[in-house]
Amino acid sequence: MRFALVDLQLPNRKANRDHTGGFGSFMQAEGIFGALVSGLKSRLINLPVLSFGYTSAMLRDKGHQCRFYTEGPVEGADVIIIASSMHSYSYEVAFAKEQKHRHPDAKVGFYGPFAQTKPEFFPDADFIIGGELESAIEAFLAGKHNFSGVLDYGTVQDLTRLPMPDWEGFPVAQYSYFPMLHRRPFLPLQSTRGCSFNCDFCPYMVSQTKLFRRRDPKHVVDEMERNVRLYGMRSFLFRDICFTLNKKHAAEIAEEMLRRNLDLEWGCETRLDCLTVELIDLLVRAGMRGVNLGIESVSNDILKGAGKKNPEIAHQEMIIAALQARGVRVNAFYMLGLPGDTVESMEQTIDYACKLNTQGAQFCITTPFPGTPLYETQKSQLITTDFTQFTEYKPVVDIGTATPADVSRAQARAYRRFYLRPGWMLRYGLGTLLRLIANFLPGPAPLPPDPPRNNSPLGKTLSEAGG
Ligand code: SF4
Repeated sequence: MRFALVDLQLPNRKANRDHTGGFGSFMQAEGIFGALVSGLKSRLINLPVLSFGYTSAMLRDKGHQCRFYTEGPVEGADVIIIASSMHSYSYEVAFAKEQKHRHPDAKVGFYGPFAQTKPEFFPDADFIIGGELESAIEAFLAGKHNFSGVLDYGTVQDLTRLPMPDWEGFPVAQYSYFPMLHRRPFLPLQSTRGCSFNCDFCPYMVSQTKLFRRRDPKHVVDEMERNVRLYGMRSFLFRDICFTLNKKHAAEIAEEMLRRNLDLEWGCETRLDCLTVELIDLLVRAGMRGVNLGIESVSNDILKGAGKKNPEIAHQEMIIAALQARGVRVNAFYMLGLPGDTVESMEQTIDYACKLNTQGAQFCITTPFPGTPLYETQKSQLITTDFTQFTEYKPVVDIGTATPADVSRAQARAYRRFYLRPGWMLRYGLGTLLRLIANFLPGPAPLPPDPPRNNSPLGKTLSEAGG
């Protein structure tokens, strides 16, 4: 069969559909300066929908044709799978309608947690895929469905069953994760799924759930080598939602990379209580140059209300100092407008962000994503049910302890205060600007010639490869 995978390009903005647990992120902070920083970040970060890479490998391995699209028209497909987002679902619905009109016999449907939790917004879809896309593809390959109705086969219980993502036909040269990672070509990788911390607000829990699963570390490093060979990959980001949740697993990957002498620049996302100085040392030796950290709030009392707990401040500061001392670029995520937040507590979080002085800071407005416990708690406090406004950059809830306008103002102030400090500009500002010019003005780094179709054992599942 002929499949089309669509990650639709929007007019003048990025949908970033792999972000925010698959709900997509539309980075446009409040205030002129906030809009400038978040808009720049949105343009410089370009990640593919990782599950499309896996899907394309799974389908092609079984002899199906698979093409990737960022715009229409789709040519000759039997099944068109469109990645859905929360903030731009209306574009996707219009696109689906147009394709259905062109290809009345094709099955046209959506994948993603927004379509999964709000199917009423996709009334004309032939199918809606919930859970993890690869589960639905496995079910199709096993003859369990033919892309009709609601298809929710949950999570992939055993990640070692999955092949390596196949990026042939994807615009690999355009992918980047700047300013955290400087080298390109860049690709995402994933070694685990799920997170047992299961925070109430976490959008990733909707599809990945709290069930923690991991790949064989050797297979993960095999994929790195395969990506270097086929796509010229020079940097990558672990798209694990908490890469060092299992420290032994992360250490095994790093040790395997060192054994194979790989020269790759990479980053990951994790929690402060899932890092030790010893582990940081090992990861840095293996090429780790950037870390995303969810700090959210300076106050553990406020965080508790959202089902998360951070380690003591002294431990947080010690880990961040250890990362920075080893040259790791730290990007910290903060949430403003958490349940119980006040103007004062948000200001304290901004003070704390300035004190930590990380290379990057992202100040999101707490947004209850459908399917999360936070959504259930806050749905009576919503000030809008227009889901195109659920961008994490607009208040959509009246939390009672601060007004929506207070939260908006706090976000604008946070960006201004954080990035316009001499402490940030002197430490990071000029270097980031020079890197930006060096990396992006001359155009994307050249790619090696088109790779042949991958028939090596590295492109197959562990079991097929006898691993
Ligand atoms: S620790 Fe991070 S990834 Fe895990 S559930 Fe909480 S927010 Fe999500």
